[in-house]
Amino acid sequence: MQNPTTTTLGYALFATRWLQAPLYFGLVAAQGVYVYKFFKELWTLILMCVSGHATETYVMLAVLKLVDVVMIANLLIMVIVGGYETFVSRIGLQGHRDQPEWLSHVNSNVLKVKLATAIVGISSVHLLQMFVDVHHTSRHALLWGTVIHMAFIASAAILAYMSGPMVAHTDRGHADRAPAAPAQAPDHASRQHTEPESERHRAAAIPPQPAPDTDAEARIRAAGFPARKVLEEFDQQHPRGLDRDVLARLGKADFVDARRNVVFVGPPGTGKTHLAVALGVRACQAGHRVLFATAAQWAARLAGARAAGRLDAELAALDDHPLLIVDEVGYTPLDAASAGLFFQLVAHRYERASLIVTSDRPLGRWDEVFGPSAPALTDRLAHHAEIVRLDGDSYRTRRAATAWAD
Ligand code: ADP
Ligand code: MG
Repeated sequence: MQNPTTTTLGYALFATRWLQAPLYFGLVAAQGVYVYKFFKELWTLILMCVSGHATETYVMLAVLKLVDVVMIANLLIMVIVGGYETFVSRIGLQGHRDQPEWLSHVNSNVLKVKLATAIVGISSVHLLQMFVDVHHTSRHALLWGTVIHMAFIASAAILAYMSGPMVAHTDRGHADRAPAAPAQAPDHASRQHTEPESERHRAAAIPPQPAPDTDAEARIRAAGFPARKVLEEFDQQHPRGLDRDVLARLGKADFVDARRNVVFVGPPGTGKTHLAVALGVRACQAGHRVLFATAAQWAARLAGARAAGRLDAELAALDDHPLLIVDEVGYTPLDAASAGLFFQLVAHRYERASLIVTSDRPLGRWDEVFGPSAPALTDRLAHHAEIVRLDGDSYRTRRAATAWAD
């Protein structure tokens, strides 16, 4: 139990991060100075060219200077946006068409590596300037320029190397807490560390194209996905009226930490399985164990467990998987016994662990699938859930139609 005084003190200290906000606006002013400097240099270059005084070396040096100014300005914007997002407050650009690729997975580690590589870029431009103007550069300056550049490269490499194992280490920490096989006894402790876990997700938020991670790959293989689908390959224009913000938010896999559910509803071919698998892949990359199966396969699995008299043990063992995916609810009719088993699965995981369910019919029509248990089942499933409706034509037939037209 946290002492209220320490909590208040902690919050008060945390609030002082806002003191940093004006610093970022100061950097915006510095950005303005660079814009002024850029145009001054450009104007001089144009005047020299027009008056015929510009030699080739001069033009090259002047252009390098412009590139240099732009790179420093880029570095500035990275510090301004990335620093503000990491240390002050979320800007909430998710879904903005101009959101930089790196911002979705920015954290202090990523930021350090980005800055170090930006500095290497700037120092290589400086070195190039020296080499272009080698006759006017002293040996001393050339030597030190090269040594300093190498030092920047080395420090960037070390930072990049260190940030990899740091992320992998936190990931492994999570994997160690979870038991190895689904059939083992449940380890509720593995789901009780929500606080460090959500912290870890902030630190190692899922990048759009994550670096290969052998643990994540192992989890993806173990999940039993029918095919590997990723969010990046999902054409968000295709389903009618799809809320991109919702997908961007779900793509962070936070819903797994929050033990919330996701339900994809829509006609065949609108990408329900694609999205369910893509979110499953992201959850695996975020350190969660995932299991994918169709509704019919889940029904068979649970029926088998019940026949062996170990349904409760099976449901408890599935708790090792923070995310289960139930694909194609409604495609095959369920008998009353299977409907009852589903109800038990949903009721067992309610507020305990996440489910992704895909169905060709809205929740209001699930009585056609689950019979009388439908209202109680949908009530629990939908209580903490994101219901995503996918409307429109089948992506499969659209592709086929386009191929025919071609
Ligand atoms: P559903 O489960 O809704 O029937 P699927 O997810 O199986 O549909 O989609 C059918 C095929 O079309 C899959 O190969 C999937 O990758 C592809 N697909 C569907 N929607 C999209 C989309 N919006 N962008 C890219 N591929 C899509
Ligand atoms: Mg499907």
